[in-house]
Amino acid sequence: MTGTAGGQLATAVGSGPEEADWAAAEALIRGLSPDARVLLICHVNPDGDALGSMLGFGLGLRRLGVRRLQATFPGPPEVPEPFRGLPGLELLVPAGAADPAPDLVICFDAASESRLGELADRLSSAGAALVLDHHASNTGFGRVNLVDPAAAATSVVAEHLLARLGVGLDAAIAECLYVALTTDTGSFRFEATTPAVHQLAARLLGTGIRPGDISRRVFDTRPFGAVRLFGEVLGRARLEPAAADRRGLVWTYATLDDLARHDQRPYVLEALIDSVRCTAEADVSCVVKQTAPGEWAVSMRSKGAVDVSRVAVALGGGGHRFAAGFTGRGTVEQVVEGIRGQLDAALIRPGD
Ligand code: AMP
Ligand code: MN
Ligand code: MN
Repeated sequence: MTGTAGGQLATAVGSGPEEADWAAAEALIRGLSPDARVLLICHVNPDGDALGSMLGFGLGLRRLGVRRLQATFPGPPEVPEPFRGLPGLELLVPAGAADPAPDLVICFDAASESRLGELADRLSSAGAALVLDHHASNTGFGRVNLVDPAAAATSVVAEHLLARLGVGLDAAIAECLYVALTTDTGSFRFEATTPAVHQLAARLLGTGIRPGDISRRVFDTRPFGAVRLFGEVLGRARLEPAAADRRGLVWTYATLDDLARHDQRPYVLEALIDSVRCTAEADVSCVVKQTAPGEWAVSMRSKGAVDVSRVAVALGGGGHRFAAGFTGRGTVEQVVEGIRGQLDAALIRPGD
């Protein structure tokens, strides 16, 4: 954003898809023949928004009569336990079984082709490519792009397109979209939680889905081994009050050995950042999660003083202003040093 006057900000922020984009997306789907093959892809290491928006939209396509439909994501075909109750899981196929040249590919919650891993080639092999997303950094890699940076989740975009297609909400679609909405808004705690978000939540709940059951499954259930693992990993957290122009940095890390010792799968670490980011003395929080020898998945959050997406982009990743990530290489200390080196340049200044 380059605007200097506060009054310019509203227009400087990406204003989302134009009517022509919505119409083009609608036409792509309405134009599908009854035996058209449609492939849905969400980003690698899928979260609630990736899976929820993809499966919810997929169930909507089913209702429209699309029969030859696959949903997939790159990497190992393992759905994290918190999402194993999602409706629509029967649409999932392993990446290796995904149609090599579908008539239409639709991508969910991925800011760039690189987030599609080994499935990125479908963007050129498919008859058409549609992108649904809400990352401001989205590169517009589809032929039709519905990217709304103001949307709290990709599921907001998905629901709008379903409504335009005349697909009403049922409980199965609603549960998928609700999981997506609650995960990306931190259960309606983050700044993106607008009146429109609560209105969408109200429509979703109106289908009769059970928010208590869903939240317990998605947010409030983890194996005892993960509870003990969290204790260990939180116990080694470090606070650096002078970092980021004295706004403070807090960070910790988890290795593959930590996971093995507690007999845990990597996805359990996704919730760790929510405990670390509580630290009152730090604006920026960070969890460095080993994925292979010398390779780390890094999660960063900010309370508002630092644009962590700038840090992530500088280090080869991406994300949102206050929630971003990247793949780090080397030792933990080298990865954290890389972050430290970017914090000052990512401080948000008045007018940013
Ligand atoms: P996470 O910390 O994994 O919950 O991710 C927070 C945000 O950063 C999400 O919006 C992701 O899309 C983005 N993100 C995380 N890891 C990466 C990566 N390696 N490359 C690009 N974006 C990422
Ligand atoms: Mn996501
Ligand atoms: Mn998202």
